[in-house]
Formats: sequence, structure tokens, C-alpha cells
Amino acid sequence: MTVKIAYILGCTHSGTTLLHRVLGAHSRILNLGSVKNLRTAVREGKKCPCGAPKLEQCSFWQAIDEQVRALDGRSVFDLDPDSRWARRFATDNRVLFQAVAAAHGVQVVIDSSRRPSRLDRLRQVPGIDLVPIHLYKTPPAQVHSWEKRNRPRQITVSALRYWGKHRYARQVARHFPGALRVSYEAFCQDPETETARIARALGLAPEPEAVRHWGENPIHVLGGNRMKSQQDSVIRLDEKRRRELTAAEQRRIDRVCGRVYRQLTAGQPEATG
Ligand SMILES: [Zn+2]
Repeated sequence: MTVKIAYILGCTHSGTTLLHRVLGAHSRILNLGSVKNLRTAVREGKKCPCGAPKLEQCSFWQAIDEQVRALDGRSVFDLDPDSRWARRFATDNRVLFQAVAAAHGVQVVIDSSRRPSRLDRLRQVPGIDLVPIHLYKTPPAQVHSWEKRNRPRQITVSALRYWGKHRYARQVARHFPGALRVSYEAFCQDPETETARIARALGLAPEPEAVRHWGENPIHVLGGNRMKSQQDSVIRLDEKRRRELTAAEQRRIDRVCGRVYRQLTAGQPEATG
């Protein structure tokens, strides 16, 4: 059985948590969050966002554990989907994703690990069908998200970081003819249309009702920020950076990121922000 993985590529503070939560509200999609963090979450005894004091005590994870034991003989809590050893990486990811799909009867599993290097390694894993979803903000919005608490601000450093991360993500995503690109601003302005476009690309019928009530969907995700436990379904577009970046800073960002940003937006729905 081949499992479809929607792999979210992007930067920290780029809206990946919002995107995976909204997509995960679809009845045929299951959101695992940042899969690379499984071993750390188990080792550090992290709480499950559903409220269970540990993953081992959460019924969602217990159902996956049963399937992993049936497939592989080990426990899901002994898997390391971020292993640096190629064979273990391949086996543990294949077993995990197949067990998740079997335990929860879904067609698509979301991995929001963000890193292009992990996506590149997953290409070698048999039995999974990868669909990268490359999420990006406008360069000033992203640089502002990274720098808003820094004094002094390191605008050029963050602009170069944007350039490097998105350039690498594009290079890896190019290996997948079905890869999608999603503008964070366009997504916030019209989440229903953007979510419907993504659902169709994943071979699913859009569920607009689920998008309107995404915050009510129970979550058991790995990693993520405080947004992972938001329970209302409000989507806010952060517009503060318009007032907080100077014109000179905006020009500097554009000089570094302009080209990679135009490549990201080529052929994409119009975004303002
Ligand atoms: Zn849970």
C-alpha cells in the first residue's frame, strides 16, 4: 500500500503551523506535525497537544502503536524517523507512515518537518508518495517575523537566510512534478480557495466546512509553536511589518530576496501583503 505524504516545506515563523492545522481538519487528511521530532518528544516525555500527559498515554498514538507492532514488531515509541543511518531512516519512516494510514483510515498524512534535507532523504523511501507543499511569506514579512525581537536588527542576515532556505527548498521540490507552492498571504486572505486547491492536488474533494471550523479539530501533532493549540478558527494576517520596517530596510531585503521571491510566485495566485 502506498501512502500519500503532504510534506510542508518552509521556514520557522512562516505559517507552517497554521497551514498544517487547516489542512489537517479535512476528514481524509491526518496531521502528524513535525515528524522528525518523534524521538525527541518520546525521550523528553512531552505532552500530547490533546491533553494526554505523554504520547504513550494518548489513544491516538496508542492506535498507531498497535499497527507499528503488527507491521514491524517494534513500538512506535522506539522508531526514529530522523535517524542519520540511511537504512533505519527508510524503515522507520515507511513503517510509521503506513501504520498511521492504517490506524486512522486516511489517504493523506501531513509531515510538517519543513526541512528540504529531510524531504530529499524521504525520496529514497519505498512505499510513500510525496507531495511537497512549499509555503512562503513575502520577504519583508518573513524578515520581520524573524527580526521583530532582535536589537539591533540583522536585516541582511535574515534576508540572506530567506534567500538560502527558499532556494534550497525549490531545488529539492523540483524533483516532484506534483509539488505545490503556497503563499502565506494568499492563504490568509482566502483560506477556503487555497485549501480547496491543495485538496484537489492531493486527489481529495474540498471540504469548505472543515476549513471554517479547523480550530475544533482534535490535534496530536509533534513539534510546533503555541498556534498548535489554538481552538478558535480565526486566521489573522500579521500586517505590523508595514509600519515597523524602514524604506531602506525594505529595499535591502528586496535586493537580496527579490529574485528568489519572483521565482516562488511565478504562476501562483496573486498575493498582496
Ligand atoms: Zn493526543
